[in-house]
Amino acid sequence: MVKQTIILGRRPDFSSLDIGEALSTVFTTTLSYQNSTQSTLPIDLFAAIHALKQELNAVILAHYYQDPDIQDIADYIGDSLGLAQQAASTTADVIVFAGVHFMAETAQILNPHKLVLLPDLNAGCSLADSCPPKEFAQFKAAHPNHIVVSYVNCTAEIKAMSDIICTSSNAVKLVQQIPADQPIIFAPDRNLGRYVMEQTGREMVLWQGSCMVHETFSEKKIVQLQIQHPNAEVIAHPECEPAVLRHAHYIGSTTALLNYSKSSASSIFIVATEPGIIHQMEKYAPEKIFIPAPPMNQCACNECPHMRLNTLEKLYLAMRDRSPEITLPEAIRLAALKPIQRMLEMS
Ligand code: SF4
Repeated sequence: MVKQTIILGRRPDFSSLDIGEALSTVFTTTLSYQNSTQSTLPIDLFAAIHALKQELNAVILAHYYQDPDIQDIADYIGDSLGLAQQAASTTADVIVFAGVHFMAETAQILNPHKLVLLPDLNAGCSLADSCPPKEFAQFKAAHPNHIVVSYVNCTAEIKAMSDIICTSSNAVKLVQQIPADQPIIFAPDRNLGRYVMEQTGREMVLWQGSCMVHETFSEKKIVQLQIQHPNAEVIAHPECEPAVLRHAHYIGSTTALLNYSKSSASSIFIVATEPGIIHQMEKYAPEKIFIPAPPMNQCACNECPHMRLNTLEKLYLAMRDRSPEITLPEAIRLAALKPIQRMLEMS
């Protein structure tokens, strides 16, 4: 197992790890964390978090890939676009962001005077880590006259080098608004970029990044599931590889998949995205059956190890201690703000 040293205020670097190593690192970190904090926790965590919410005038924003307990206590549950919109409009003094680091950074970029808390500072993102700022600056310099459209799943430094930020909900719509003769770099997710090219008919230069979770689904096992459940519809996130997407009856952002599962006449779905979303799908349509698309190996690699670092316990401790806080150098924040604002205007 690869050992990670955790420096205060910084995430460990997961970029060189495969998903098995990342899971081991996350598990070891979580165990030592639990041992050191268990004795200090209140018995009723839900009540304690509600009390802290009032005391701090806090809002809890949670991504669909969070544990069901966290989704159930959140004020708002959404995907990247919905969470960014909520972060932009909130009147709360404190934003508790139950998601991963780049999402909390986006909330901080939009709210420089608010306290933004992330329950576990190690909750990173393999996709964001697959686009290091120094290498991306060289890539950008090698493609002069291109504008940069970056998927929101990137660091603040990459956002600061971008012209427009997009999410999986609005990427197609935003690229369609760019003049046809304007060359485009799309970063960091190659699968989403390829999907946007297919949908818009636009050529783009793609940064070759990817998400360790969405690349883990097994085409073979999905086909086997389809044989077992001939009436099932495959619904997939565009971060999945083309081999998986070609079996999909519907492709969309996490919110779009949720809405489709509600409105479709089908009663059984094979869900090719992080299975945390199934908690909401089952709430909205309890009579329907949702089968998580299986990963290639006998592991839980279809669960995002970064998202799953956040727990109800850590959420409580972050609010109690007002830490870990997300902060950014002002120059980076201001440069990253412009392309996010452009996205919110164009969406
Ligand atoms: S599911 Fe993939 S893109 Fe989303 S936070 Fe996890 S590693 Fe990043």
